[in-house]
Amino acid sequence: MSTQRTVLITGGNRGIGRAIAEEFVALGHRVAVTARSGEGPEGTLTVHADVTDAASLDAAFTAVEEQYGPVEVVVANAGITRDLLLLRMTEADFTDVIDTNLTGAFRLVKRASKGMIKARFGRIILVSSVVGLLGSAGQINYSASKSGLIGLARSVTRELGSRGITANVIAPGFIETDMTAELPEQTQADYKKSIPAGRFATPTEVAKVITWLASDDAAYISGAVIPVDGGLGMGH
Ligand code: NDP
Repeated sequence: MSTQRTVLITGGNRGIGRAIAEEFVALGHRVAVTARSGEGPEGTLTVHADVTDAASLDAAFTAVEEQYGPVEVVVANAGITRDLLLLRMTEADFTDVIDTNLTGAFRLVKRASKGMIKARFGRIILVSSVVGLLGSAGQINYSASKSGLIGLARSVTRELGSRGITANVIAPGFIETDMTAELPEQTQADYKKSIPAGRFATPTEVAKVITWLASDDAAYISGAVIPVDGGLGMGH
């Protein structure tokens, strides 16, 4: 069994983040989640934070450290979409998505890195998307934020790789959550036709890859982009 770690997941109250928290709990880790609303699953410590606000993230982090000790694994999962075609997308639509999905991850990684450098151990996992590499009409803001995470993880790997810290990106395809439930039925059916697996994934299928990346077995994997997409993005 892998070493028990202290884990912090952003956006752990629902969707993929909640499934990630459940998997870490099932493996016996000490798990904290950030939530703006609601609570994380049973067995987790919920701290309230908004990833667009560095002070609230810092306070949440400190609360977790006080309860569980140094945070060894962080998962930047919180994310939003604001889909519009380029000509209709305002600058606020663009910067709000970047602020949550990309700058939010930067804030988390920066805060986490202090303790990780000191401990000479850390696992940083950033939840990107297949569209970060494929691109997606109507999602210029979202796909830019998600491809930015790859540069972030790879630069962190170069900066902190010698300190026992790894930084990796997960690129899910279509996962059954509130985010995809919002898509019209016809759009969902069209997407399924283009996925070699012929279906969307469950959040647990993403979560299991993330817990493995955080495990002792994945110590030599860093700067990687790992697809969990049923083959949708093949050729990246
Ligand atoms: P959901 O919409 O179901 O959940 C999003 C989570 O992010 C919620 O917990 C939400 O909290 C949190 N969140 C959003 N904005 C902020 C913020 N400013 N500060 C703190 N928390 C915030 O999304 P999914 O579970 O589907 O997605 C999770 C991640 O996976 C996202 O990064 C998404 O881009 C990515 N992803 C999802 C795919 C999918 O098919 N579903 C595919 C590929 C990637 P609250 O409830 O308080 O709003």
